[in-house]
Amino acid sequence: MPDKYDVIVVGAGFGGSSCAALLAKRGLKVLLLEKNAKAGGKAMSLSKKGFTYTAWVVITAPIQGNMFEVVLKELGLEHRVELVAPPPTGGAIFKNSRGKYIPMPEMPPDTVQDPNIVFDWLEVKEEERADALQVLTEITLMTPQDIDKLDNISFAEFLSRYRIPKTVYGYLIGGIADPCFVAPVDAVAASEAIRTLQMIFMRSGGLFCKGGIGRVAEVFAQAVEENGGMVLTRVRVEKIAVEDGKVTGVVTNKGFFKAPIVVSNAGIQPTVLKLVGEEHFDRGYLNYVKGLVPSWGLPGARYFLNKEVVKAPFGTIFSSDGYWTLERFEKANAGDLPKDVGLLYEVPSNYDPKAAPKGKQVVLAALCGPAEPGTTAKENRKWWDKIDEIMFKVFPGMSRHIEFKEYYSAREISALTRDQVMPNQGGECIGLGQVVGQGGLLKPSIKAPVQGLFFVGCDAGGYGVGTQQAVDSGINVAGVVQRYHLMHRAMI
Ligand SMILES: Cc1cc2nc3c(=O)[nH]c(=O)nc-3n(C[C@H](O)[C@H](O)[C@H](O)COP(=O)(O)OP(=O)(O)OC[C@H]3O[C@@H](n4cnc5c(N)ncnc54)[C@H](O)[C@@H]3O)c2cc1C
Repeated sequence: MPDKYDVIVVGAGFGGSSCAALLAKRGLKVLLLEKNAKAGGKAMSLSKKGFTYTAWVVITAPIQGNMFEVVLKELGLEHRVELVAPPPTGGAIFKNSRGKYIPMPEMPPDTVQDPNIVFDWLEVKEEERADALQVLTEITLMTPQDIDKLDNISFAEFLSRYRIPKTVYGYLIGGIADPCFVAPVDAVAASEAIRTLQMIFMRSGGLFCKGGIGRVAEVFAQAVEENGGMVLTRVRVEKIAVEDGKVTGVVTNKGFFKAPIVVSNAGIQPTVLKLVGEEHFDRGYLNYVKGLVPSWGLPGARYFLNKEVVKAPFGTIFSSDGYWTLERFEKANAGDLPKDVGLLYEVPSNYDPKAAPKGKQVVLAALCGPAEPGTTAKENRKWWDKIDEIMFKVFPGMSRHIEFKEYYSAREISALTRDQVMPNQGGECIGLGQVVGQGGLLKPSIKAPVQGLFFVGCDAGGYGVGTQQAVDSGINVAGVVQRYHLMHRAMI
């Protein structure tokens, strides 16, 4: 094992592993350190009793032109993962005005998406359809220059400029935006929401990977070693060493590793406040970092069934007023959970028959909830009960066929991914980079005010839904780090 590297990457989530792989492929000597047994972070694949699944619902978008393929292509490893896409309608389920849960109808074959089919399903009156179409068209066709002007307003403020039928609002926010951003419509930056929705509207969503999405990050990590780098798992970085304002390496439970560049996938707040330490930053930057607000958590359930009950590979379950706002969330946290809330579900074996023993299914389901890892099982019970209530109503046979079930919360998410250093942080589903004032051109910088220290992942540097955002960041950060490395080598 060499004692000095060009770059150390802390964490093999989708951001860290993609960045490390690209840097290794481009010739840098890379060390990738991961505290877990394998790569994948928040989207790690797991296996148990013949089932293969992600720890929680993880499906990705867009399908066409996704960032996984961009990285795999540069690595020359497209053949090593099998990405699979669902039928175009997916499994969205609308609770209609009579309280019935109705799946989105299939589009007739060989037709483009017909908005009237969707409007019929959403019970949109004839006279409201032009208004509905206007907002959806303007979102889809907005130019990047106009999107950039919307960093400082929330998506809710942007939408308030339009007359939007109630059920269309419920679908757009409860059925699409809430699960993508895991932050409420009045907290997500309009620019981030529109940029991401354009990807989904024009390039579809619901992409999955055989063997679980985490397989993609595992292949990125393999590429580090295949390109001369080193990957050490079950190694926790305890400190990032800084001398005279410059990074010198990392302290781990397996010893000290030297490098003039450290790229952290451990989250900006844990990196600054814990791994580097407050003493290395000025007060202004510390105040800024402490003031950043993460996305919410996504507590959920895993139902292991002895029968195939759910037909769709993934979907959302929503109603006209089951979307989240800051006020609704505050009330829910205090105990007053709304009757209707949006839900997200996924059935890995409907993408990949090998993901479950024959005739069985694992169904993953989740809803927006607290990011605070300190919440107790008792406090989480109301969120879990709501998931059971909705899932058992929508899929009536399900409760009879459960072999065993598991619940999870922000506690498990934090344990698998990032450390808690602030209240309501650690168990966040996504990261810091999409909330109003922290999104678009106002995203946190990928470069820390310490020489040689960079951030990668969903806190900075990328756009899009969850894993895609992390990989987009991985690509962008790799470019900046490569240039920094070459310039410092040539000029010092
Ligand atoms: C419940 C849930 C559901 C989700 N659903 C979806 C979905 O449907 N679609 C979607 O696209 N995205 C989804 N996401 C989000 C997506 O998984 C994340 O946005 C993305 O994977 C984050 O990648 P990342 O690189 O930013 O960081 P992370 O995944 O957080 O990776 C960070 C890595 O750093 C490691 N690490 C941290 N600290 C240290 C340390 N000190 N030493 C060594 N290693 C360390 C961690 O172990 C981890 O592997 C979901 C997330 C959750 C939690």
